[in-house]
Amino acid sequence: MNAMNSKGWKNLRNLIIGITATSTSIKKSKMTTSSSTRPEPPATPTASTTKKEAVSAATTTSATTATENLSPSTCSLEEYERTREKLLAQDRGLAFDTQAIARATKVERSADQVVKRIRQHERAHLGVSPSNGGGSSEHFLGNLENINRSQLMEISKMMPKGAHLHCHFNTCLHPSFLIRQARGMKSMFIRSSVALVRPEDFACAAISFAVLSPDTPRSDVFDRGYSPLGWAPYPDFLERFPTQMLGGEGPESWLANKMIIREQEAHDIHQTTDGIWNRFNQSTQMLKGLFGYESAFRRYVGEAIQSFLDDNVMYAEVRPNFFDKFIMTDNGLGKLDHFAWMTIIREEIASKMKQLAENGRKEDFRGFKVIYCAPRSIEKKDMKWCLDDCMALKREFPDLICGFDMVGCEDRGNPIRHYLNELLEFRRTCDAAGLDIPFLFHAGETLRHGESTDENLFDAILLGSKRIGHGYGLARHPELMKICRERGIALELCPISNEILHLCPSIQGHSLPILLTNGVPCTISSDNPAYFSSTLSHDFYQVMSGFDSMSLHGWRVLAEWSLEHSCMNAWEKSCALAEWNRKWEAFCQWIVEEFGSNKR
Ligand SMILES: [Zn+2]
Repeated sequence: MNAMNSKGWKNLRNLIIGITATSTSIKKSKMTTSSSTRPEPPATPTASTTKKEAVSAATTTSATTATENLSPSTCSLEEYERTREKLLAQDRGLAFDTQAIARATKVERSADQVVKRIRQHERAHLGVSPSNGGGSSEHFLGNLENINRSQLMEISKMMPKGAHLHCHFNTCLHPSFLIRQARGMKSMFIRSSVALVRPEDFACAAISFAVLSPDTPRSDVFDRGYSPLGWAPYPDFLERFPTQMLGGEGPESWLANKMIIREQEAHDIHQTTDGIWNRFNQSTQMLKGLFGYESAFRRYVGEAIQSFLDDNVMYAEVRPNFFDKFIMTDNGLGKLDHFAWMTIIREEIASKMKQLAENGRKEDFRGFKVIYCAPRSIEKKDMKWCLDDCMALKREFPDLICGFDMVGCEDRGNPIRHYLNELLEFRRTCDAAGLDIPFLFHAGETLRHGESTDENLFDAILLGSKRIGHGYGLARHPELMKICRERGIALELCPISNEILHLCPSIQGHSLPILLTNGVPCTISSDNPAYFSSTLSHDFYQVMSGFDSMSLHGWRVLAEWSLEHSCMNAWEKSCALAEWNRKWEAFCQWIVEEFGSNKR
């Protein structure tokens, strides 16, 4: 018999003590969301009640009881194995989906088994697992082709995902959508950081667009004597683009591909966190002008709702950047302010909802709200302007504006604390005026620890953030995890974005399992799918394929949490959850019928 040495026993004892302490602290905590802004819970059982019961169930047996009589120097193999099983069971009992598993219907359990079988099969035969050694890549971008033809992805697409809570408005759709909109726009201009003469110029050029007045001085980007950043008419660019020189790739494809981040760019051995953010910002700069005029902005709303529907999302909160004060009219002569933006959004939502009702799909989409975003790089006086602007828009569009956030690379921009006076004043004014504009701060999208960026998590919580955008770094702060668990502050995790922007080397390094085991409510989002060749379905695919601890029951809890922690009011949530439950049952049935008994 292999007796455990004293060091091993000490480690085991420490582990047990740790588990007991965690269990006790979780047991004491209130798992329901307790913010004063929270509406009454809906009648449908929610993920938070599920979690409360799960944790309670997990703590009914003391971990010490399971192991206290085990002495490695005298125990038999059988005793050791029995105690080990108990310890594993106690650890698994802390899992966030414990109660969802306990409550699962027969068909749900069958569907879960089918999903697990497919996951195992595809790891072995499709090479989509980062850990099987036979996969094409450890990275999402390297596995994308295989993922897109996998059955697990087919299931992920069909999954009713509830709410999509973290998506930047201008990057909801593939870049080709905006490029198509720009076709025939006489007032659209393009510019480059270098003259576009040789193939290598095309590779290194930074491109941007703008809708400008017809009398704008014109340059020729294809001329050797081109002065960088001179504006060239876009229709001319399309007509004269040297397709042959670029191996047959046409201008629209070239432009779209230039905005999409490739595996090599994200994961090159010499790539750095700073470098990938430069690459990211290049795409953002390129997209900005393509988005900034009336007809594109208008069409984007309906198309974004359609893309959410296609992804089986029933409600969305999107984040437009409001720092630019205007978008242009299509003729390049007029400017539309934020009031006009919101009017366009309201009109286009109404139009899309009418169309859905006519097609019998009214129940499928429950709403689209706007989180006001300002860049974290601006001066304090500009932040004050944005905060005042946000309140003014909330007064005019109370059902549309649902929160306030700051955007941009956290490691480069100002910390939340930089704007403390302005944010506190905003909070006071909102409360006095009865304006419900919760903070929904990006925080913890960093690998730094103990620095001002990392401390954004502390300020987000102190300022009463309803949810936290990303919160990746929260797993390094036990006290903050406890607060999020107790107050029901949900995280908007974006696994693919985090991998591509260098927070984790692959999905398996993501902090999701730590956060979930510690009882932190988590939701899954796609952040900037336009740049990542992804959809929300891909993010759900990643968490299912990346972690054996993830199950169909876990997916269920993540989706329920997304609705529960959304900015919908109590009535809207209750209706959405009831509809979501119907969809979930049908989804499980579909999995069993379509893939059960090795049908495919
Ligand atoms: Zn984001």
